[in-house]
Amino acid sequence: MPAPTDLGIEVLAVPEGSPVELDLRLEAVVEGVLVTGTATAALEGECVRCLEPLTDQLSTRFQELFLNEDGDAVPEDDEESGVGRLVGDLIDLEPFLRDAVVLALPFQPLCEDDCPGLCIECGARLKDDPEHGHEEPIDPRWAGLTGFSAEPDNKD
Ligand SMILES: [Zn+2]
Ligand SMILES: [Zn+2]
Repeated sequence: MPAPTDLGIEVLAVPEGSPVELDLRLEAVVEGVLVTGTATAALEGECVRCLEPLTDQLSTRFQELFLNEDGDAVPEDDEESGVGRLVGDLIDLEPFLRDAVVLALPFQPLCEDDCPGLCIECGARLKDDPEHGHEEPIDPRWAGLTGFSAEPDNKD
């Protein structure tokens, strides 16, 4: 099925219309139909540390019980028609799929586990420039003394 809008969270989501692979298992139970499924989809988002675009793959399992509309138990010899009704009504899966996807997403997606993020001084991406650094800011109280110590000690 194509992904509906807003399938995901602000920083990481399944692009609208991209394919969501559903692997569903339907099981007739007394109350209705138990749907167990795995949803696999591509994710697009951005790293929360360095804001670099990232792509990821989502695979999440979900399980939901669909009650019979009339509330009656499905007779054991009526399993096939029970399943058939549900298949004709698959759009109802969307809210459950959405819940499962959102729950499976990392709250803080990272381009890589140890993404160093952005430089707090200048905002440069530390991943692009691992050697990146700034001189230690000089404490103004010691600024005057620095001049002294930098001079060669040749008084003798
Ligand atoms: Zn990053
Ligand atoms: Zn910097």
